This record gives sequence, C-alpha cells and structure tokens, in this order.
Amino acid sequence: MDFPNQPLPFEGFNLFDADAALQQAVARDAAQGSVTQLRAWGETLGRPDTYALADAANRNGPSLHTYDRRGERIDEIEFHPAWHALMRLATRNGEHCGPWRTERDGAQVARAASYYLHAQVENGTQCPLTMTYASVPVLRRHAPAGIDTWMSRILADDYDPRALAIGEKRAALIGMGMTERQGGSDVRANVTRAEPDAGGAWRITGHKWFFSAPQCDAHLVLAQTQRGLGCFLMPRVNPDGQRNSIRINRLKDKLGNRSNASAEVEFDRALAFAVGAEDRGIATILEMVQYTRLDCVIGSAGIIRAAFTSALHHARQRTTFGRRLVEHPLMANVLADVALESEAALLLALLLARAAETNAAPSLRAAARIVTPAAKYWICKRAIAVTAEAMEALGGNGYIEECPLPRLYREAPVNSIWEGSGNIVCLDVERTIKREPDAVDALVALLATARGVNAQYDRRAAALETALKLPAGDGAGGRRIAQAVALIVCAAQLIEHAPGVVADAFCNSRLADDAFAGAAFGTLPDSTRATQLLSRALA
Ligand SMILES: Cc1cc2nc3c(=O)[nH]c(=O)nc-3n(C[C@H](O)[C@H](O)[C@H](O)COP(=O)(O)OP(=O)(O)OC[C@H]3O[C@@H](n4cnc5c(N)ncnc54)[C@H](O)[C@@H]3O)c2cc1C
Repeated sequence: MDFPNQPLPFEGFNLFDADAALQQAVARDAAQGSVTQLRAWGETLGRPDTYALADAANRNGPSLHTYDRRGERIDEIEFHPAWHALMRLATRNGEHCGPWRTERDGAQVARAASYYLHAQVENGTQCPLTMTYASVPVLRRHAPAGIDTWMSRILADDYDPRALAIGEKRAALIGMGMTERQGGSDVRANVTRAEPDAGGAWRITGHKWFFSAPQCDAHLVLAQTQRGLGCFLMPRVNPDGQRNSIRINRLKDKLGNRSNASAEVEFDRALAFAVGAEDRGIATILEMVQYTRLDCVIGSAGIIRAAFTSALHHARQRTTFGRRLVEHPLMANVLADVALESEAALLLALLLARAAETNAAPSLRAAARIVTPAAKYWICKRAIAVTAEAMEALGGNGYIEECPLPRLYREAPVNSIWEGSGNIVCLDVERTIKREPDAVDALVALLATARGVNAQYDRRAAALETALKLPAGDGAGGRRIAQAVALIVCAAQLIEHAPGVVADAFCNSRLADDAFAGAAFGTLPDSTRATQLLSRALA
C-alpha cells in the first residue's frame, strides 16, 4: 500500500555506487581490482536484509552465560544469529586483516573503503574486526610464542566463533585489554600483575574494567611486571584445550554499540605470552592504537555518511508546505552543510589510510603522526553533531527506533571515548608537535600542496604553520590546535580531490572569520550552490 508522504527508507541501494566521492578516491588510490569487490560489498550492505540483520543484532544484544547446567563455570557469551551472519560477511571481505594478507599498493585504502561502507550499516561488529586488524603489525613485530599458528588463523578470510585452542581453529579474532577500574587514559596506573612462569609463559592476576569482545580468541593485555608495564597475548583457551582463567563478571549495559559485548573481567593466574620487552607495554600497545584510531576516524566518517544519506533520501521524498523538504532553501542549506562534512570526513580518513600503506611516502607517514590524533578528535566529535542534525531532518520519524538514526546517534559518541578520549588525543597532537619537528615539517609540506586556490585556505594554513612553530603551552590549547589541524587538512584534501564547488563551500564556511558559522549546520553563507552540492553527494 502506498502511504501518502511517508518516505521509503534508504535501503536497496548499492552504497558504493551511490557515493561519487568514494568511487573517485578508490579509483585514485585503492589497489587494483578493488572496485569489483567494493561494488559487490556495497550491494550486499545496501540490501534490506542486511539492514535487518543490523537491526536484529542490536535489538537482541549478547548475553552472558556464566555456568553450564551442571554448575561448571563456562563464561560463554551468546550472540544473536544476526551478529554471526554480519561477522561472516565482514571477515570474508577481509576487514579484519585484508592489507596484511596481501601487502600490495592501495590495500589499506581498499580496506578503509570497505570498513567505511560497513560502518554505514552496523558498527558493533566493527569492534573485534578493528582490534584484530590493529593487532597484526604488533604481533608480527614482536612474535610471541606460537605466532605462526596465530597469524595463519588471523589472516584467514573465515569466521570461527568456537571456543577452542588456537591449533583447532579455522580463524581467530583478537581484542585488547588496557582499561582498569582506577583508570583508562593513564594506563601507567594499571595494577594487574604479570609473573613469569615455566617455559617462557606468564601468569596474569588482576582485572580489566572494559574488555570488549571477550569472545575473541586472545586479547593483548597490559600488566605490571617487575620491570614495568608489559604487553601480553592472553588466549581465551589454553593450548591444552582448557579455558584460560578469565572470569567474565558481567557485560556492560551500554548506550550504543549494543550488538557488541563489552565485559568486566578478572584474571586468576591466566596464561599469557609476552609481546615485546616486559617494560615496553605502553610503546607496544601504542603501535596498535594508531590503527584503532584510524578505524575510529573511518568508522565515524561512515556514520556521518549513513546519517546524511538517510536525511537527504527522506528530504527528497517528504513534502511540507507544498514542496519537497529538500526544495526549501533552509533545509537545503542544512543538508548541503552536512554533505560537506561528510565528504571532508571521508577524504581525511582516506588520507590516513594512504599513510598506512606499506609504500607510503615517509613524509606522509610523519604528517600522519599529528593528523591521526587530530582527525580522531574532530571527525568523531562531528559524527555526534551530524547524527543529531540528520535525525531532526526526518522529523518525528527520525526519533523512532524503526529508523536507523537513533542507533547511529547512540553509536556515535563511543568512537570519541575509546582509543584515547577527546582531550587525550588532543594532548597527543600537542606532544607530537612539540617533540617531533620532522612531523611538523611534513605537515607543513602537506598543507603547501593545496595553496593558491582558495584565499581562506591560504590564510588559515599560514596561521597554522605559525602556530605549529610556537613554543608549546600547558595543554589547555590542545583542542584548538587539533581542530585547526583537522579542518585545514580536510580543506587541503577537498581542494586537491573534490570539485571546486565543494572545496570552496567548505573553506568559505569552515575557515572564514564568521562568528556565526559552524556552531550548528545550515549556516552556509552561499546556499545557492546547495543543489549542486547535494547532487554531488547523492545522485
Ligand atoms: C563501549 C566501550 C568499550 C570499551 N572497550 C574497551 C576495550 O576493549 N579495552 C580497553 O582497554 N578499554 C575499553 N574501553 C575503555 C576506554 O578505552 C576508556 O573508557 C577510555 O580510554 C577512557 O578511560 P576512562 O574511562 O578510565 O576515563 P578517564 O581516564 O578517567 O578519563 C575521563 C575523561 O578525562 C579526560 N582526561 C583524562 N586525563 C586528562 C588530562 N591529563 N587532561 C585533560 N583531560 C583528561 C579524558 O579525555 C576523558 O574525557 C571501552 C569503553 C567503552 C565506552
């Protein structure tokens, strides 16, 4: 039945084909052959039944079974079949390991594009995929005991949720456990202890206050040794097939990310293997964190895109006061403003993915040491604002759980909290600027490539260059500098890669001295270009 003026949801579209900016970026930078795979992935993700899986996995979150019926401790998590179906799709698509399996040029960009598409449909499943992806370089570099078996299972394009010893499995997933009751940002305060055991193994006693995806086959865990904080690979099941002594006390009742399990756990002499030197745990885990932060940026860019496409699709169908919503100049201004945010977020995410390629230019890698935390700060924050705005564009329907917006809105803040909360990543930006002059020079060189096209950009880029070379402050200016870096690098990417109308609108709205710009969406000074911006954003 046709209900008058009730728009159809944004479903049944190929998410890759619907995204001109993504297609252009992939053609430019992704590995050869990626287009076919991404198009197929965009088709799968966009299907109504995939959205239905995402909905089911979030409505029917995981549950903890502490004991079996004979009273034996099992610490098993039960997931809805929709979770497993989504995990199977994503692992077959290589989101947990693709670039490490075939380290060819453009593999990171191809994987980032895939992850970005996935983020538009379901986000909880992305947590174990990200942690597994991020663990590979660390595990390869530090090669703990049994690494070959672990690596062959991690790099498999398969999904095997069974709790078995690693040798018995077809595929494996990895998590990470750093945060304790007394602190997550300051992991030096960790109290969990590691003691050497026979045969080079370690025994870990203590707890973790947040331990996501406890069903993973192993976690990288921080614990105090006699020499300092170490990093350890802690299997879920020991090599002899016995469960490791990891007790799951309870699952967190979370605002969003509800399809995924996040646990409080206790370790009672749990078996673990050292990853890196026993006093270098923070440095070791930070190698992993740079990739998890990259995924926070890509994932948030995906959330922004999903919120935007839902809003625009709705506004193209819904009529108020005798016109389609999108034809009202003020609504067009709001949506065009969000479209700019979305393309900027995508290009910034893909710049960082390029910096992660094995063959990335050293200067791009160096610049990314500043740009990654800045982007993690800014794009994750923007996702929170965009999901709220997009919800409002759908009016009352946007507030109802049948619509994807409430889930996106609840999901958005977590990327800002984990893997370095806002202030922590801003302090990282400041610290890198202060201590790593090669990263500052590389950032300045990156900004120079976009000079001479837009006057607002030139002025802001010059001011940022000056600011980068000022003596470091006491940290209070961290958010200012991180925001400036993120916005100006976004603008540089748009100037280089997007049509002039997009780049100009971004620079003239985000970089101008207009006290009223930017606090909310819909304040573009020249809204006459809105139609062009919207047809570029979603054909
Ligand atoms: C859903 C979910 C899943 C999670 N999963 C995991 C997981 O799998 N593994 C894991 O290890 N952790 C996980 N975490 C924990 C997460 O990483 C931490 O919550 C986060 O690092 C912040 O630590 P905290 O909660 O202890 O806050 P705190 O460290 O107490 O920080 C609180 C606030 O103070 C700010 N702050 C701290 N220090 C400073 C400073 N010097 N200057 C200015 N501001 C400061 C922070 O930015 C933050 O906003 C998860 C969290 C959530 C919400």
